[in-house]
Amino acid sequence: MRTSAEYLKSLSDGRTVIVDGKPVDDVATHPAFAPVTRTVGELFDLAADPANGMQVTDEVTGNPVNRMYVAPRNAEDLAAWRASAQVWADHTNGWVGRSPDHVGAFVAAFASHPEAFADERSLADNVLAFHRRVLENDLYVSYAIIPPQVSRATTAHAWEGDFIQVGVKEERKDGIVVRGAQMLATGGAVADEILVSCIKPLTPEDTDFAISFTVPVAADGLKLYCRRPYATEATSEFDYPLSSRYDETDALLVFDDVFIPWEDVFVYKDVPGLRKQFFDTGAHVLGNFQAQIRFATKLRFLAGIARKVAAVNGVDKFPGVVEKLGELASLVSVVESALHAAQFTAATDEQGFFRPGAQSLYAAMGLQAELHPRVIGILRELVGGGVLQVPSSVLELVNTDTAADMERYVSSPGISSVDRVKLFKLAWDAIGSEFAGRHQSYELFYSGAPFVVKGYAFRNYDYNKPLQAVEEFLASYGVDGPVGSSAEEVSA
Ligand SMILES: Cc1cc2nc3c(=O)[nH]c(=O)nc-3n(C[C@H](O)[C@H](O)[C@H](O)COP(=O)(O)OP(=O)(O)OC[C@H]3O[C@@H](n4cnc5c(N)ncnc54)[C@H](O)[C@@H]3O)c2cc1C
Repeated sequence: MRTSAEYLKSLSDGRTVIVDGKPVDDVATHPAFAPVTRTVGELFDLAADPANGMQVTDEVTGNPVNRMYVAPRNAEDLAAWRASAQVWADHTNGWVGRSPDHVGAFVAAFASHPEAFADERSLADNVLAFHRRVLENDLYVSYAIIPPQVSRATTAHAWEGDFIQVGVKEERKDGIVVRGAQMLATGGAVADEILVSCIKPLTPEDTDFAISFTVPVAADGLKLYCRRPYATEATSEFDYPLSSRYDETDALLVFDDVFIPWEDVFVYKDVPGLRKQFFDTGAHVLGNFQAQIRFATKLRFLAGIARKVAAVNGVDKFPGVVEKLGELASLVSVVESALHAAQFTAATDEQGFFRPGAQSLYAAMGLQAELHPRVIGILRELVGGGVLQVPSSVLELVNTDTAADMERYVSSPGISSVDRVKLFKLAWDAIGSEFAGRHQSYELFYSGAPFVVKGYAFRNYDYNKPLQAVEEFLASYGVDGPVGSSAEEVSA
């Protein structure tokens, strides 16, 4: 299996990643990206160590492969799959949203449903070959499946200017040439390949944009415009413990006539085919099962910070604070319970893929827009101004002129100044830094805008049952039923 050293080496491939108006030389050494590449490398090392239980034997080659890239076939597989996802989520405490298992899960589900890609061009074979490539080379695939935010009132065909959203500029014998942009690939700058598609509904007039393909990040003509990096703003690991490790980067992709060979095309000018790839294959369910495992891990970590802060400040026995910690426990447990329920209600589909239960999975996702801000809000309340009553940097803690003031005025019973500041700086990086702000947007939007995600919850809930209960109840009485005393008085 791939090691960290191999992953880091492979990143020097001439990819065009732009920051501050210039392409970066090497993402593995550039200060904006080196920290997250180190973290991703650690994930690969964890998977490569058989002791972590993340491997499974490949049916074709007999070699060990990453279990996250193989669709579960039964309850035992799904339990092991979940445990593997947990190994990676634990390593980043849930702060790396698009670790390689996220899109890896989508690709695994695609491959378990090749029939969803069937057309006269053998696109289904392309999907199977892509899955093999990901499996055998332990690839990190990121994705960009949302059109640029130009106007949501219309779709690509109606936008001013040709090819704003990436689309087919030219069809050739050996492949297609694509032009345009796609909105955001988290981790794209440090991935191996990017799956490019569109999950937002398109219309028949958008056929040129109804495509799905994979592209190496270093492809000729592909540019990645990254938003402001946070890792470079982190003055030290002590001051910004999360920003300095887990800034995944998000990038706008721009395709200047990029050639995509047919082998890398999965959906071609097929509007219904776009939805089939995500929903008929179960890819959306498996990918989001991973996402909720990661999300629950992060919520537990936030709850842990809250509990520790309350203890350090000596407020953890006050009834009002216990109530807040209890609410946090409830919020985290809701997501953990939904994961258990999704696992418990998983079932084998017609292709033998053991899919997590959609109802409970989408229930948790549907609440994410309320639940995550509430968790952050409670943590913000519990830390009070302590996150601002911290020195500008670790230097005040080590400088002999300032350390004594810090020890005297910025400490708490049973905890040194250094440990107190360390805890509150961590809390700030979780709730208040620029990295924290990006995470709030991430949790609100990563699986779609709240109205979209609640739509999934709506469609995957069997409303027939509650409707039937209401119908039966309404049918159990009528105008001729028993009346109470006040009604008797009225009628008398
Ligand atoms: C930090 C971050 C990381 C991301 N990473 C990735 C990634 O790795 N890959 C990827 O493909 N995408 C990624 N995304 C994009 C993400 O999938 C989208 O943000 C999400 O799907 C919502 O789409 P949008 O941002 O275009 O919002 P829009 O669709 O423009 O919606 C914005 C707001 O407008 C309103 N609105 C819009 N349309 C409607 C409507 N029809 N009805 C009611 N209200 C409406 C809603 O209030 C909505 O909240 C990321 C986003 C963020 C913030």
